[in-house]
Amino acid sequence: MAIKQQPKQPRGRIIAKVLLGVSGLFLLLNLVLPILLPSGPAGVPYSLFIHQVKSGDVSRVSVGQNQIRYQLKGENGEQGAVFATTPIFDLELPKLLEEKGIEFAATPPPKNNWFSTVINWVVPPLIFVAIWQFFISRGGGGGAQGVLSIGKSKAKVYVEGESEKITFVDVAGVEEAKTELVEIVDFLKTPGRFTEIGARIPKGVLLVGPPGTGKTLLAKAVAGEAGVPFFSISGSEFVEMFVGVGSSRVRDLFDQAKKQAPCIVFIDELDAIGKSRSSGGFYGGNDEREQTLNQLLTEMDGFAAGDATVIVLAATNRPETLDPALLRPGRFDRQVLVDRPDLSGREAILKIHSLKVKLGDDVNLKAIATRTPGFAGADLANLVNEAALLAARNQRQTVAQEDFAEAIERVVAGLEKKSRVLSDTEKKIVAYHEVGHAMVGALMPGSGRVEKISIIPRGMAALGYTLQLPTEDRFLMNEEELRGQIATLLGGRSAEEVIFGSITTGASNDLQRATDLAERMVTSYGMSKVLGPLAYQQGQQAMFLGNGSPNPRRMVSEDTASSIDSEVKEIVEKAHEHALEILKQNRDLLEEISTQLLETEVIEGEKLYSMLSRVQPVDKAAYSVA
Ligand code: ADP
Ligand code: MG
Ligand code: ZN
Repeated sequence: MAIKQQPKQPRGRIIAKVLLGVSGLFLLLNLVLPILLPSGPAGVPYSLFIHQVKSGDVSRVSVGQNQIRYQLKGENGEQGAVFATTPIFDLELPKLLEEKGIEFAATPPPKNNWFSTVINWVVPPLIFVAIWQFFISRGGGGGAQGVLSIGKSKAKVYVEGESEKITFVDVAGVEEAKTELVEIVDFLKTPGRFTEIGARIPKGVLLVGPPGTGKTLLAKAVAGEAGVPFFSISGSEFVEMFVGVGSSRVRDLFDQAKKQAPCIVFIDELDAIGKSRSSGGFYGGNDEREQTLNQLLTEMDGFAAGDATVIVLAATNRPETLDPALLRPGRFDRQVLVDRPDLSGREAILKIHSLKVKLGDDVNLKAIATRTPGFAGADLANLVNEAALLAARNQRQTVAQEDFAEAIERVVAGLEKKSRVLSDTEKKIVAYHEVGHAMVGALMPGSGRVEKISIIPRGMAALGYTLQLPTEDRFLMNEEELRGQIATLLGGRSAEEVIFGSITTGASNDLQRATDLAERMVTSYGMSKVLGPLAYQQGQQAMFLGNGSPNPRRMVSEDTASSIDSEVKEIVEKAHEHALEILKQNRDLLEEISTQLLETEVIEGEKLYSMLSRVQPVDKAAYSVA
């Protein structure tokens, strides 16, 4: 919407069409002309011709390759009729003609044959070229320069359109992301201000978030705000049938972009090319994708400081599958979370989209927002449209609240799998669960600050989540910190136990991660006094402090195996008790924060810090394993 696209002629296709047309015409003429043209002399059988020669009736013969024409002797010195016959392989003929004293000659190459020559020599290549052109223009080469343009990038260039450009006003509910992107707009507008004091302008910004939350929209808005060209290409367009084309596309895209700098290159669905190179997957690695990825990395490394300001924005909803090389400094070193909107965000998005429809007086956008937790921006835009359709169907002049109510039902039914809408009880459980994580996490050393708690369903698995960001880069962790992490992971389940006295299935992922961590403490990091500093796992862990599950164990004796198990169990249980104790002693606070969370769906920033700072610690000596 609201964006102008530079007209881009699919010239390859036009050429192909013209060529196809021309060759078709030739073929048609070839078929039709022989019928229309005045027919030659009457054809006779060869035997008749020979007979006439032998009986001396023939005066002249002209022998051609495909035809023998001959004239009969006329009466009274007049010329006789002309006949034609089809020659057969007859070496005796010249002799016979000579014997009979008949004038004969070979037929000169027919003059009007240029036509069939043209058809025979020109048409087949034309058809070939036409087909070639057709495939290239379809295969996405752009085709602007014919065959040579096979690698030309298909990036769409969006330029500012006066009345219809997208700006930050068109995006709502993602305030944090907007704040971060305002900086990028500054870089693009006044790069000098930053380079003069020696600051390096970031090259890549990765927008991460679930589908439909407005990542593409935000990228366009950045371009609109900065008033710079916007090259947009989708990751899946990169990966092509022809080997090498993907990487030449990348090169071409960046060449074009550098000419237009300052500008934005937007790569949508980055995961299509950025998949981790180590994860071979079903196809055992994909050469083409790898080349494309390497080219992208080279290009991003290529534009040095002081060079043209080209900022690469990319979007993905699966950051965990991206190749780590993409996330290194100097590449996509900035990541901006574009999350599902909270209550007030949803209201703001509804406001934006309902500007396009006529709203009745009874419409209460806040009430609609309250009923649509888990809806992303795209879902809300769709909702407004559905409501307008319903109003039109019901012959109303304006959209009424009841249209919205019905539209929500429709959209929710359609969304069922995509974004769950939780029942009130479920929502309550999720709220206490997340606050449990947050409160335990707030007390534990080394696990960073709790930045955000949300009960807006997100992604495939999480119903709610607690975002804990490290305050510094951590490469090493000590035993106490690891125990703290495990306790934090168990905090969610512990809160459910404290408040509801029962446990739901929601904690299974937490338990998995807690157990993995405990197992690694025992088998990889040598943190168990009982088992000592031995590595019981095979090989190196690929991700050092990552979430990967432990490697297969070495061959160990049954005794050792069972003591590993009991050590792991001991660690997890202690951490569980610790978490339970914290939550029991801070039960009032747990209730308070959870009630608040149920109301606003999200708590973050200062408000969250000040609430969590009130959590009272318990004597942790009791919970570390001796
Ligand atoms: P994504 O790229 O994250 O999958 P899009 O940017 O393509 O999502 O969003 C699709 C459409 O949904 C947008 O064109 C816009 O109409 C609407 N939309 C999504 N998020 C928002 C938002 N935060 N504010 C306003 N409209 C939004
Ligand atoms: Mg998108
Ligand atoms: Zn949890």
